[in-house]
Amino acid sequence: MPVFAHQSDESSNYVVVNAYEELVKQNVLMMIDYMDMCACEKCVSDACALVLNQLPPLYVTTRKGELITQVNQTMRDQHIDLTVKVVHALQMVKESPRH
Ligand SMILES: [Zn+2]
Repeated sequence: MPVFAHQSDESSNYVVVNAYEELVKQNVLMMIDYMDMCACEKCVSDACALVLNQLPPLYVTTRKGELITQVNQTMRDQHIDLTVKVVHALQMVKESPRH
């Protein structure tokens, strides 16, 4: 029996996630366009992993759709500049693509 098995349909709108994952992926996909580099799934995933490893985990229970608002607030509170981290990670992937 899965630990997070839901007991009823009413709870199915809630998700437990590392809140940074979706935001980091969005930023990577956005920045990869500007950097004239390979945008394949492997490179995108590598860059996401590099960024996520530099961030503290931010697991939250939330309703779908409310996630980004919460994450933006947390990053403001902690003075995290995600764009800088994303660009740095993309530069690393660009210099030594693993495929
Ligand atoms: Zn690639």
